[in-house]
Amino acid sequence: MSEYEFVLSSGERIPIVITTRRGLRNITLRPKTRPAREIHISKPWMTSTTTALKFLEQKRRWCERIFDTAPQKVCIKSGDVIEFLGRRVTLQHNPAQRLNDFIINDDNSATLIVGGGADMFERRVRDFIKAQFLSVVKQMIHTVPRNLWPRRVAIRDTSSRWGSCSTSGTMSFSWRLAFAPYDVMRYVVMHELAHMVHMDHSPEFWQTVSQLYGFGVERARRWLNVHGAELHKYF
Ligand SMILES: [Zn+2]
Repeated sequence: MSEYEFVLSSGERIPIVITTRRGLRNITLRPKTRPAREIHISKPWMTSTTTALKFLEQKRRWCERIFDTAPQKVCIKSGDVIEFLGRRVTLQHNPAQRLNDFIINDDNSATLIVGGGADMFERRVRDFIKAQFLSVVKQMIHTVPRNLWPRRVAIRDTSSRWGSCSTSGTMSFSWRLAFAPYDVMRYVVMHELAHMVHMDHSPEFWQTVSQLYGFGVERARRWLNVHGAELHKYF
């Protein structure tokens, strides 16, 4: 727990992380909304913590606006049900076990039981979803002709791009797509695979996307435009 907190008008308590740096001339404030909501303050050696906190208070309106406009993170805890990769998954914590258990029920819902300490719960769930996401992406890739397969697949956590393709042959995807409807995720994968044939967004490119994806490309695109930001609500 952080020693200092910044209390927003909403009542939310934002931890403050203060670091002292030699050679620094001014106090710098960095309100961060991802991955955690925190305020980072760097202060010169000679500046007291009280002065730094007073400075932050002077910038309250600016800080409040940043935290107000950023999408609020949803904390997850044992017992919660979240949806990813097309499944409703009940999360459970069992500190007595070391490995994760993933049990798929008859109705296609699932239970994820993670072990380890309580402080590691979110991290373990996140890592599990990332790993599952990568394997589902690979399965999707394997449904298209081999000549379209990338050399390597990587996962990223970018908010600006859902997928990208490098000249070295690495195809990258934002693992946040795990929280999108299954077909929306599949659309992004097929979009990138179509770039193996057409590097542009020409009509020929879109024709290839449609061939790979099937009917409904426009719908998947629209869904991402409208709901994309919501894919960042967890973790
Ligand atoms: Zn593209």
